Amino acid sequence: MHFDVITLFPEMFSAITGEGVIARGIKKSLLSINTWQLRDFSNNKHRNIDDAPYGGGAGMVMQVKPIRDCLSHIKQNNPDTTVIYLSPQGQKLDNKLAIELSKLKSITLLCGRYEGIDERVIQHDIDREISIGDYVISGGELGAMVVIDAVSRQISGVLGNQDSLNDSFSNGLLDYPHYTRPETIDNQSVPAVLLSGHQANIDAWRAEQAKKNTRKKRPDLLIPFSKIK
Ligand code: SAM
Repeated sequence: MHFDVITLFPEMFSAITGEGVIARGIKKSLLSINTWQLRDFSNNKHRNIDDAPYGGGAGMVMQVKPIRDCLSHIKQNNPDTTVIYLSPQGQKLDNKLAIELSKLKSITLLCGRYEGIDERVIQHDIDREISIGDYVISGGELGAMVVIDAVSRQISGVLGNQDSLNDSFSNGLLDYPHYTRPETIDNQSVPAVLLSGHQANIDAWRAEQAKKNTRKKRPDLLIPFSKIK
């Protein structure tokens, strides 16, 4: 999977490319990420890419031309890339959407700043808008990193031998509880079944705990199951 990211703050992406799951995916050549400084596509000496909104009002708006020029540049080598604008107005990211996006070969993520981008880009240059939740953050960069991470985890081999099959949402339920050494701390003990060495019993306990966890913390996830019955 290849990601291009259009941003005013390319250095922010070192947070995910330097270490961790994404960095390992890059090392294994399963992932690649190119960041593009939008100011490099400005046509004025101050490297401005924004201007005041028509109609007045607060804030600045990112202009069409630098974004369009940057997209054309990216598409020269990558004509079939799916262009996604990070936006609070977009489709909300969830596990299902992350799996859908992980099947693509190439994604271009456009990170907004200020009041956002000129509507003509949204109408004519974007394939889809994706939101990371019903709140507004100051820029698309954090959203782009969330998308890259959530999508990359779904790509075979990126997690190495770490198993994502039981991760929350993967089978419609939350994950089961995890424990590690020591067996007892401050009078709190690890459930005996996990020490039993009996894998079938451990699997059954985990399946039960995943359901219990979901019922307690996210009963809304169980609604589709009860509808099926
Ligand atoms: N005026 C815009 C609105 O109310 O829809 C919000 C602009 S926001 C301050 C600046 C940028 O942050 C947006 O262009 C977008 O790229 C990003 N952003 C803000 N909230 C987001 C969210 N929930 N999901 C994804 N990106 C978001």
